Amino acid sequence: MKNVLCAKCVKCGKTYAATPNLTNCACGGILDIVYDYEYIKQNLTKEKLKSRPHTMWRYRELLPVEESTPDTPLRVGWSPLYEADRLGELLGVKKLWIKDDGQNPTASLKDRASAMAVAKAQEAGAKIIACSSTGNAASSLAGNAAAAGLRTFIFVPERAPKGKVAQLMTFGANVISVQGNYEETFELSKKAIDKWGWYNRNAAINPYLSEGKKTVSLEIAEQLDWKMPDYLAISVGDGCTIAGVWKGLKDLYAIGFIDKLPRLISAQAEGCHPINRAIAENKPWAPMEENTLADSIAVGVPRNADKALMAIRESNGIAVNVTDEEIMAAQKLLGTTCGVFGEPAGVTGTAGLKKLCEQGIIGKDDTVVSVVTGNGLKDVANAIKFCGEPMKLPNDLDALVAEIGKRGLKTE
Ligand SMILES: *Cc1c(COP(=O)(O)O)cnc(C)c1O
Ligand SMILES: [Zn+2]
Repeated sequence: MKNVLCAKCVKCGKTYAATPNLTNCACGGILDIVYDYEYIKQNLTKEKLKSRPHTMWRYRELLPVEESTPDTPLRVGWSPLYEADRLGELLGVKKLWIKDDGQNPTASLKDRASAMAVAKAQEAGAKIIACSSTGNAASSLAGNAAAAGLRTFIFVPERAPKGKVAQLMTFGANVISVQGNYEETFELSKKAIDKWGWYNRNAAINPYLSEGKKTVSLEIAEQLDWKMPDYLAISVGDGCTIAGVWKGLKDLYAIGFIDKLPRLISAQAEGCHPINRAIAENKPWAPMEENTLADSIAVGVPRNADKALMAIRESNGIAVNVTDEEIMAAQKLLGTTCGVFGEPAGVTGTAGLKKLCEQGIIGKDDTVVSVVTGNGLKDVANAIKFCGEPMKLPNDLDALVAEIGKRGLKTE
């Protein structure tokens, strides 16, 4: 890879050649891909991007893949960035955009990491990829691998919502539903990967995955014509997404595509916020219980805490925790004001933003992008519980007239 110099441990600084099978450093630290920004500057221009396909692979020069590695088959990336003027006005900010990453092929931002995993597994000559996941890493890996003709072994905790499990089974994955929490699921996947030597798509362990996830911020920048907002809100579980988002922004800054770095808003659930607790108390992170209905961010032992904490601190970011009720209220608010349906973890960034607006920390002078990281159809059970019941009536116009009158609904 002409654009990549090496992989470097974020803990001890040791460097490694960027081979496709890289995992953690010998010291246990997480590796970070180091780019040759001079080379990239000479080979990538804003003009060149204009004629490229609308997928994450349009940013090849900024991605750790060989020039000869093909684009993965599914259309991952280039999700819409909506101007959310009504919601922005309601929250009281100067300008708000919603990046709907639930529009990816398997309906979450995780497709960006899984497409990268498939590309790297192909470079490694692997036939089988494995991962453990709270759900979306699993379904995105199963889908992207199926499209590329690779097989998968997937470990999910037993509480994974049905929508995600249905995706896995439909994509033909070998699915192991582990009787335990995410931590135990992760441990079993690790043992199995060690035993059979499968390609490892576990987030944080595989340093290429957050490079895939960073394409969300590359896109946001390009969609905003390289004029960056003041804040970027994102929900946080393992911490790979927020670390990736920050990496993408720093890449663009390094090659001179943007001249401002937004502050990150790290949104976690009140019932599980080990990363935000470390920020708030300015201490190393410690495990926490996984007590939230936002299953994709119910991560008590975050696998990428080091990189995530660095990203939040470096960006002078803000950590905000929201209750499950606040998450579900944000889901409805996004639905009613933007027509965007996010899963609970998907809307947690927006819930955090709303809270910061109410607290007066963010306000009328601020511009914000909030990323919706997963689609609401993945978890309809919680949505139905919180969004209310429809009017239930017989086929009788008089009854309808009466009901509409009773509710005081406007009919014109
Ligand atoms: C995985 C996931 C997140 C959090 O990403 P991390 O890398 O685990 O921090 C947020 N939202 C959704 C929908 C996810 O699937
Ligand atoms: Zn190290």
